[in-house]
Amino acid sequence: MNQLAQKIKELAQAYTQDTVGIRRHIHANPELSFEEHNTATYVEQVLQSYGLETVRMANTGVVALVKGRNPESKTIALRADLDALPITEQNTVDYKSKNEGVMHACGHDVHTASLLGAARILQEVRGEFEGTVKLVFQPGEEKFPGGASIMIKEGVLQQPAPSGIIGQHVFPMLPAGKVGFRSGMYMASADEIYITVKGKGGHAALPELNIDPVLITSHLIVALQQIVSRHASPKVPTVLSFGKVEALGATNVIPNEVKVEGTFRTMDEVWRKEAHRRIRKLAEGLCESMGGSCDIDIKFGYPFLKNDPDLTGRAREAAALYLGEENVVDLDLWMGAEDFAYYSQEVAACFYRLGTRNEARGITSGVHTPTFDIDEAALETGIGLMAWIAVQELEARTA
Ligand SMILES: [Zn+2]
Ligand SMILES: [Zn+2]
Repeated sequence: MNQLAQKIKELAQAYTQDTVGIRRHIHANPELSFEEHNTATYVEQVLQSYGLETVRMANTGVVALVKGRNPESKTIALRADLDALPITEQNTVDYKSKNEGVMHACGHDVHTASLLGAARILQEVRGEFEGTVKLVFQPGEEKFPGGASIMIKEGVLQQPAPSGIIGQHVFPMLPAGKVGFRSGMYMASADEIYITVKGKGGHAALPELNIDPVLITSHLIVALQQIVSRHASPKVPTVLSFGKVEALGATNVIPNEVKVEGTFRTMDEVWRKEAHRRIRKLAEGLCESMGGSCDIDIKFGYPFLKNDPDLTGRAREAAALYLGEENVVDLDLWMGAEDFAYYSQEVAACFYRLGTRNEARGITSGVHTPTFDIDEAALETGIGLMAWIAVQELEARTA
């Protein structure tokens, strides 16, 4: 292993305890999406204590630059998210959430603490790499339209423009000490579908006088599955699920309308729009053919997340060098959504997973659950690896 990697490892080890403290502070004081006022101020204070200048973006987002030698030569961005979820924590740890009903249940406390630790390391070794590392602490990952989209609109990918952006996310399926990568499509776009099927209600014993929206809806739900089975390429993962059907009639009452709600997820932006068009056309045509009609509203959520193959390949190699090949795994596709996807639509991106599981200590709960927690040993990996990947990427003379 080269000297700089060794030095980063030593610094990561030395700073782990402080990082645990930072993580616990953020964990105990969670704030909801776009309300991360105290968290943003805290992040600013910590960065300033390392001698870094900070800039506010998107109200509660914070950006800072670590400048190495020849800082204009190349820029790489590292991203963390600041927000917590509306969940009441059930862990009995002494850093348990002090904000009733709000919890860092998606590990964004870990991402923020890790990026602060990486910042400290990078600032310490700034004389030993060329280029600039842009630190991006964004608000509101968990809530549409997503802090990432606002940061991009406010220019986070400009001045200086990074050649790539790297994000790290906790992964409770993977043991602490390990990390996971996937090249190409990784996470899904997620759109919400709201359909109101309209008919004409009346006595259930007199079907000839009614237009039954319940029957129309039954056909519609079955028919819409052909969008997935007959129009989606088998090479592009696609999911269409309806989790809510509301027909407020009775055993003997046909209602006037039925409400249907679902989610559409895929991993191709062209197909995504084409699928929306087909869903609409099929729903309208089918309802009309059965004598009814429908209102259909499809709300765009986050886009799909693509990991740039070159950047991800280099980051994976850097991780294997730093942690050993045995600690780097290949990830499966993930049909969940993440607003980091917005960056991946604009610039080369790599979103990798940080293992946080510890079976022996019972740390196995999934994200977005009231008992989610991490093995804090993961923080040493988190801070060092992020710094190392950034440095390696600045070394790579691409573009
Ligand atoms: Zn989440
Ligand atoms: Zn998350």
